[in-house]
Amino acid sequence: MKIGFIGLGIMGSAMAANLVRGGFEVTVWNRSPEAFKPLAGMGATIALSPCAVAENSDITISMMANPIAVEAVRDGKEGIIAGLSPGKGFIDMSTVDDGTSLETARMADEAGAMFLEAPVAGSRKPAEDATLTIMAAGSRTLYDRSLPILETLGKKILFLGETGNASRMKLANNIVMCGTLTALCEGMRLASSAGLDMAQLLEVLDSGAVSNPMFRLKGPLIASNREFPAAFPLKHMQKDLRLALRLAEDVGQPLFTTATINELFKKALAGGLGDLDFAAVSRVI
Ligand code: NAP
Repeated sequence: MKIGFIGLGIMGSAMAANLVRGGFEVTVWNRSPEAFKPLAGMGATIALSPCAVAENSDITISMMANPIAVEAVRDGKEGIIAGLSPGKGFIDMSTVDDGTSLETARMADEAGAMFLEAPVAGSRKPAEDATLTIMAAGSRTLYDRSLPILETLGKKILFLGETGNASRMKLANNIVMCGTLTALCEGMRLASSAGLDMAQLLEVLDSGAVSNPMFRLKGPLIASNREFPAAFPLKHMQKDLRLALRLAEDVGQPLFTTATINELFKKALAGGLGDLDFAAVSRVI
């Protein structure tokens, strides 16, 4: 099967590399050409536009920063939709709002192609290790056809029904993750201000009911407060908070904690922390 991959950022470059390693014939495109080199070295074909990727592929995958980036590679005469034709598939794995996915599904349908939204949970390392959790929704036919691809990228794959459900599920997942991380930052800051050892707090947490891999990974980073190399860029987490709050408005659900956490993340963004890992929010607490 010929696969197209568009968006070679932190996640996309690792995922595209796994598809090449998995034996798929992969064609790639990225806005900034620096990202091509490692994949070309592995045997991927470089295309001149998102449209050319879709023309050359049975299934085209995108992994973009946000809804605006999805539109940038989807629309227009150089865009993915222009390269689709009946029988082809388009899978958007970016974290976006349900409205963006529904519009993409409509456009793909008009081109006679199938669409699946398939955002992921898991960061840089799970993308490299092919242990992502993949939430898919949209065309069941495309989902069934894509399973060998999705299984090359992730360890847990769920089909959630109609288009929009996967975006919504991903946002619900992320407000839990972000709230948990923010609570960890506050707990560690409180411990430190009260004269306690943050490493010991991490030990206490790790032996109790809230023990989790994210605390083990990010806790020492927060304690050292030196560098926050981006596994999950803070600017993308703020985008997810913003989209979750919008979804909450649409469905009439108050999100008391998320609204407050969003203010904290806006402050972090304004303070120039957007390209660091989202654990850098600890700096504004
Ligand atoms: P990233 O490293 O910032 O990569 C973003 C990609 O989008 C890059 O290929 C970038 O191209 C492209 N892009 C941005 N704006 C564009 C535009 N206007 N036109 C064309 N291309 C554009 O982000 P990432 O961490 O890989 O995340 C990708 C998606 O996965 C996001 O939706 C994020 O929320 C989601 N996600 C991330 C993680 C994580 O831990 N990192 C985990 C789960 C889900 P350039 O290279 O040219 O900038």
